[in-house]
Amino acid sequence: MVTGFGTRRAALRQRLRDGGLDGLLVTDLVNVRYLTGFTGSNAALLVGAGGEDGTVFCTDGRYLTQAAGQVPDLERVDGRASDLTLAERIDADRLGRVGFESHRVTVEQFDELTGRAGEAVGWQRAPGLVEALRAIKDGDEVAALRAACAAADHALAELIEAGGLRPGRTEREVALDLESRMREHGADGPSFETIVATGANSAEPHHRPTSATLRRGDLVKIDFGALAAGYHSDMTRTMVLGEPAGWQREIYELVARAQAAGRAALRPGAHLRDVDAAAREVIADAGYAEQFPHGLGHGVGLEIHEEPRLAATADGELAAGMAVTVEPGVYLPGRGGVRIEDILMVRDGEPELLTTTTKALLSV
Ligand code: ZN
Ligand code: ZN
Repeated sequence: MVTGFGTRRAALRQRLRDGGLDGLLVTDLVNVRYLTGFTGSNAALLVGAGGEDGTVFCTDGRYLTQAAGQVPDLERVDGRASDLTLAERIDADRLGRVGFESHRVTVEQFDELTGRAGEAVGWQRAPGLVEALRAIKDGDEVAALRAACAAADHALAELIEAGGLRPGRTEREVALDLESRMREHGADGPSFETIVATGANSAEPHHRPTSATLRRGDLVKIDFGALAAGYHSDMTRTMVLGEPAGWQREIYELVARAQAAGRAALRPGAHLRDVDAAAREVIADAGYAEQFPHGLGHGVGLEIHEEPRLAATADGELAAGMAVTVEPGVYLPGRGGVRIEDILMVRDGEPELLTTTTKALLSV
């Protein structure tokens, strides 16, 4: 049976063969989910480079029924320490060189793995193999990202429409309101802890909602996302309660220009650090370089932060099919800050915008 997950495993096998590996022991749970569809909290997967035969999935007794439904097309075995159970299953005649996720496995775990597998197995560090595949989204993943972004767009529109951003409400109340509206629009929950930051709090790039109340004249920065079918959305909008002051309009327009420059730089083959620079230069030219203290963006998918990173120190290039955020900000301590963030799909032509809430400065 060919499934989307089978296609992903086939792509991984090609990478294994290219790298001279006979197999890969996948122990990162998100990577296991990507390759099998399994959503439980304990599993590992041994992928044989030769084919589905020789590929074995392991979870423990709590999840055997679930696994029979979610992973019907692979051999399944039962083991509480799923990585060690699979290590014991490695047939060194067939799988001589086995990769392991050295960016995830601790030194202690590695000692246990090698102890269980037998001396004939040649372990090879294989960091980031599945993550590199995950960076390029397939059709099912793009559909899930679209649904997650739409839930967030609808929830924010309703919140504003209902007067949910009004003086006297606390940051916590607004965050809770937004999260429940996302659930009403089909989200399984928020994709990370919702950031609602009002007034001077908006100058903190990552602020936890408090009992601070929204006041007329405040900048209100909201960074939030919905989780749908395991996929995360991520969007930031900054609004003003009432009429914007001159300085608020000024930094808003600056960040909006930087964000547009970052979006325009999204094309296959672009160096990651050049995309960051395209937006950062706009802010630096206006004299606010120090007030933009984080990277421009990140990949997003089964995890809220994944490959690629758009930052001044990032190595690598964009490719068609990547889903990335573009989120410059300017933060003025004691006064307030503005960030504008979208998710876009990198395409051969224009990038596709997944978060569609307006970026005009809204006074609410
Ligand atoms: Zn965000
Ligand atoms: Zn983000």
